[in-house]
Amino acid sequence: MPLMRIPYTAPLPNPTIIPASASTFQGALTALNDFFTAPPVNAASGKDGNTVILSGAGISVASGLADYRGSNGTYTLNKTYRPIYFHEFTANHEARKRYWARSYLGWTNLHKSRPNKAHAAVGALGQLGQISSVITQNVDSFHPQAHPQLKTLELHGYLRSTVCLSCRTEYNREQFQHDLSELNPAWADFLAEMLASGALATENPDERRMKGLKTNPDGDVDVPGVEYGTFRYPACPVCLAHPPEGARVEQSADGAWLPSSTAGILKPAVIMFGESIPNSVKTAVEHAVDEASRILVLGSSLATYSAWRLLKRAKEQGMPIGIVNLGGVRGEELFFTHAPVDGLGREGVRCSLSLEEVLPALVERIRAGQGAATHLPRHDSFQPAPWA
Ligand SMILES: [Zn+2]
Repeated sequence: MPLMRIPYTAPLPNPTIIPASASTFQGALTALNDFFTAPPVNAASGKDGNTVILSGAGISVASGLADYRGSNGTYTLNKTYRPIYFHEFTANHEARKRYWARSYLGWTNLHKSRPNKAHAAVGALGQLGQISSVITQNVDSFHPQAHPQLKTLELHGYLRSTVCLSCRTEYNREQFQHDLSELNPAWADFLAEMLASGALATENPDERRMKGLKTNPDGDVDVPGVEYGTFRYPACPVCLAHPPEGARVEQSADGAWLPSSTAGILKPAVIMFGESIPNSVKTAVEHAVDEASRILVLGSSLATYSAWRLLKRAKEQGMPIGIVNLGGVRGEELFFTHAPVDGLGREGVRCSLSLEEVLPALVERIRAGQGAATHLPRHDSFQPAPWA
C-alpha cells in the first residue's frame, strides 16, 4: 500500500510530563541523560544501543521558520492557509503558477536561514556516539547542513531542489530562482522592493502589512498591477531537449512552459500532501528505526501519519521513546504505557522544553559523564593501600 503524506487537523492532547521529575529544566536534563546512557533494554538483540532521532518543524523555529501548526496545533501564520495538494499541482497549470509565485517570494527568507543550536547539538550527540541516524520531516535541509557526517533521512523530501515529474531529473532551486526572476521581471522588481522594506523577513502578517506587503484573505500576496495568472515558470531542460516518448514539451520564445505541453513539469523535491513517499525512502526510514535501540522525537506533534507510524513501529519493538516538544503530540499516551511517572528516564521521557536550550545542555551533561568515565582509575593499576 502506498504511504501518503496527509495532514492531520484534529486537536492535540496536553502533554503529560514523564517522568514527573522532567517538569523542571534540570530534571528533564537528568531524565534525558539517563534515556541516552542507560544500558539498552534490548541489548540482547545485538543492537548497538544508539538512538534514532525523528525531528519536525519545532526544531527549525529558532532558525526563523514558522512552525505552521504552532504550539497549540493551530495554523499561526495564516488561519485560512491551506497547503497545495499533489493532485492539484500535477493537474492544474493555474495552481502551479500560484504555487511558484508564492514560492518565489518566500525563497529568499528560507535561503538565508541557517541551522540553529539545536541542529548543532544533534551533530554533537552524534560525535559522542549516541545517535545512529536522523529522520526529519523538515524540508529545509538544516540537518544535513549542520551535521554532514551524521546520516540524515529526509522523509518529506527537500526544498533545495526541483524535480521533473516526467524524467525525475533534479535541479538546483537557487538557479531556478534566477530563472523565475528572468521570466517574471515585474515580480522580480516587487520582490526586490519587499526585501528592501524588510516585509519578507517576518512571518507576522500584521508586521508584513505595516511594511507594505498586502495579503488577501486567503493568504496570497497582493502584487500591485500583477495577477497570479501572469506568473511563468520554465520547463524541464532535459525533457525540452528530448521529450519523453509520445509526449510534447513546448515553451514560449523566452522560455516559459506552455500548457500545450504534456510533460516536463518541474515540482519542488518535497513530498506534497496527497503524494506518495517513494518506496526507497519508506524502506530506509523503517530500517533506521529497526537498527536503533531508542527513538527520540524532537519538535514534532507527529501530525503526519508517515511520522506517527514510525513511533508506533518503535513502540511495537519495545523501544524506549522520548519526546521533546512544546505542546501536545498526536496519540502520545500510547507511547508511554511502560514509562513510570516516578522513573529515571531510561524507560521513556516526555518533556515540553525549548530544543535550542535543552539540547546543548544535554550535550554538556553527556560529555561530562563520558569524561568522568574515562578518568576513573583502571582496575589493573589499582594498588591496595599499604596499611591494608
Ligand atoms: Zn524532465
